[in-house]
Amino acid sequence: MSDVINPATEQVIASVPAASVEETDEAIARAHAVWPAWRAVAPGDRANFLRRFSDIVRDHVEELAQLEVANAGHTIGNARWEANNVANVLAYYAGAPERLFGRQIPVAGGIDVTFQEPIGVVGIIVPWNFPMPIAGWGFAPALAAGCTVVLKPAEVTPLTAVRLGELALEAGIPEGVFTVITGKGSVVGQRFIDHPLVRKVVFTGSTEVGQGIMAGAAAHVKRVTLELGGKSANIVFADSDLEKAAATAPYGVFDNAGQDCCARSRILVERSAFDRFMELFETAVQGVRVEDPRLETSEMGPLITRAQYDTVAGFVPDDAPVAFRGSCPSGPGFWFPPTVLAPVSPTDRTFQEEIFGPVVVVTPFEDEADAIRLANDSDYGLSGSIWTRDVGRALRVARGVETGALSVNSHSSVRYWTPFGGFKKSGLGRELGPDALDAFTETKNVFISTED
Ligand code: NAP
Ligand code: MG
Repeated sequence: MSDVINPATEQVIASVPAASVEETDEAIARAHAVWPAWRAVAPGDRANFLRRFSDIVRDHVEELAQLEVANAGHTIGNARWEANNVANVLAYYAGAPERLFGRQIPVAGGIDVTFQEPIGVVGIIVPWNFPMPIAGWGFAPALAAGCTVVLKPAEVTPLTAVRLGELALEAGIPEGVFTVITGKGSVVGQRFIDHPLVRKVVFTGSTEVGQGIMAGAAAHVKRVTLELGGKSANIVFADSDLEKAAATAPYGVFDNAGQDCCARSRILVERSAFDRFMELFETAVQGVRVEDPRLETSEMGPLITRAQYDTVAGFVPDDAPVAFRGSCPSGPGFWFPPTVLAPVSPTDRTFQEEIFGPVVVVTPFEDEADAIRLANDSDYGLSGSIWTRDVGRALRVARGVETGALSVNSHSSVRYWTPFGGFKKSGLGRELGPDALDAFTETKNVFISTED
């Protein structure tokens, strides 16, 4: 068993089993055994299973949200959005089984058609930063494609995943089609890589563990989707709506206490606007409400664990160039105030490494080319923002930045109906959007002779 701790109070709130290799193998064997029946469910019926699952999740949004507030310290507003996101993603992919089209390709002497065949058992490994959405982005399209799923939540945030597994059964999804297994990454997660009957692994987490997963999968030529770290740039040009850019910048990086792979944790500001931006940004940072995540007014909660607190604090030593900080509660809980480091050189580790906490660096740039060069001066390429009133410039910079999900004059990265994923060391493959089932199917080509 392993204890689950509320990061806002440091109290133990639950204890969950840590599955062994044998228990993991049993779950995988069950998922494999029920796969033929699940893939044979008619498209319209599979769609109805997913619609029912979506409806039941929707009926439990408040319960799931409260569970996430207690387990992960997410603000109640965010947690409700996250639970609704699971329902929305299920509803969206409920439309997919009936649209899982192949093609008919002109050939001589017969007809040629393609089928999108489900890949088999899918293993999903989920991190602690967004336990509900990241689980749903994997299991909803996988189930829609006709795959069965074994899912491992992060050891520190298992509670909502376990509940979603129960709700799937309530929705009538047959036993074994979607199984949540709690336990350690090094045991359960590793078994998803090593077990030959898991045909595909969807992993979200650190680049380091992701690299190990890709290497382990190679032994089986196992398919992988990887959503890894980020160090995204928020590029602010002098011709932008500077007030709006500064007012929203804290929420582009400090949301979820900065524990977001899409966090805009490098703010690049055109030199001529730097001082004015910093003035406005200071006011905005001081306005961020860091408080008990159960409060409706809360905009930022604590970090997830003591270990994460120590990692984040390690990036802000006594001689760090702190420009200003926000406030946070004292007392129990892993609270870290919003922290702004400026000016920071691109060679500094705070500019290069993913901090995964509420720490942002601000760096000036000279012109458009310099902005693109600095944004691309990173191993990562997941997300980013561009603030300008010049449409041509917005498009030139968007095309120039090597990253998977950009927003202009806003900080949005994720809509479940648009593709999401990273360039470079931020990952491999895409989730969400209209093509998500490609990651859970193999294309089969069949030629049928029409000759006598
Ligand atoms: P992590 O170690 O990559 O964990 C992510 C998931 O992988 C967890 O479910 C973990 O299980 C599992 N895992 C760990 N080792 C594994 C292995 N050998 N085989 C299979 N699965 C394994 O991430 P973390 O330690 O929680 O966080 C470390 C850093 O990663 C963060 O500070 C942040 O920089 C980055 N991170 C990025 C994202 C993202 O969304 N891109 C998310 C989380 C973390 P356990 O729970 O048992 O460890
Ligand atoms: Mg780890």
